[in-house]
Amino acid sequence: MNLAPKTIQRIPVIVISGFLGSGKTTLLNRLLTQLPRSAVIINEFGATPIDQQLLREHNIPLSTLSGGCLCCQVRDALAPVLKNLRMAWENSSEKPFDRIIIETSGVANPEPVLDVLLKQNWLSARYSLQGVIATISALNGAEVIDRFPEAHAQIAWADTIAITHSDLADAGQLKILQNRISQLSPTAKCLEVINGDVELEHLLAFPTKYRYLGGEIADLPDHGFNSVTLQFEKPLTWTRLEPLLHNLMAKYSENLVRFKGLIFDPIFDHPLLIQGAPGVLHPPAHLPARESDDFVSRLVFIMAGSIDGLADDMLQQINLTSNLNHPLELNHA
Ligand SMILES: [Zn+2]
Repeated sequence: MNLAPKTIQRIPVIVISGFLGSGKTTLLNRLLTQLPRSAVIINEFGATPIDQQLLREHNIPLSTLSGGCLCCQVRDALAPVLKNLRMAWENSSEKPFDRIIIETSGVANPEPVLDVLLKQNWLSARYSLQGVIATISALNGAEVIDRFPEAHAQIAWADTIAITHSDLADAGQLKILQNRISQLSPTAKCLEVINGDVELEHLLAFPTKYRYLGGEIADLPDHGFNSVTLQFEKPLTWTRLEPLLHNLMAKYSENLVRFKGLIFDPIFDHPLLIQGAPGVLHPPAHLPARESDDFVSRLVFIMAGSIDGLADDMLQQINLTSNLNHPLELNHA
């Protein structure tokens, strides 16, 4: 009789965190082109998931946890998703994936996610944490770290820090951010990553970092972010939308920390992905058309603090610019 303990193959897990608008999904998208045998768990703060649209070209097992953040509101949902993925993996003779990548919401503290992975016995026997990547924008990273404890925690917990948007920032901004990071996370590896373009070996060669997870994680205070989703069933053109978004960015300036959406502009036969963060409205990304496209445009806005007034402002402006666009639904998350 063989008494040797049965060894269980552990599936590697990579966690990607990073503040709102810092380019997590762009990085993930590029990673998946090089690591197609990945299962992905995406956590989005807004009630309407948008990030998964950016990944629509990849044929991967994708789970979405939306309408809250992984470190508090949907924290308990993570373990069952990981359990289900593992069961599916074990029950399949052709293992459907080789690793799991978890993308946390932009306002999540990564610690509770690591806590689930490393301290729940059933999971920790079946998964091994490969490393934690945090993205941070060179445009506003230092201010974001100082203003939002969530961003501070993301940098502090990261093994590898991907500095994004360095092509849009000046040398001074970049230097300030690099100094701030080296104070906060001196052992982390720092890489500049433009448009998700990074050599995999560099990104995934995680430095050995001493990770201390405390006992019980205290109840986290409410992050104080609010989101709203606007949904448009009539065509919404980018030429009309762009100036409105600039107006909103000016009016709500620093408190409008993130907006993103998928719009169906009748000029194109495919959807456009819209993304912005304080001080930057990215050009729309053209996504491949899908049979499942419902031609309903959706925009998600996330504010630090109260979101009162923003939806009304947006809708009023859209109605002023055209009576073709009737906002049909408002969801507050
Ligand atoms: Zn949270």
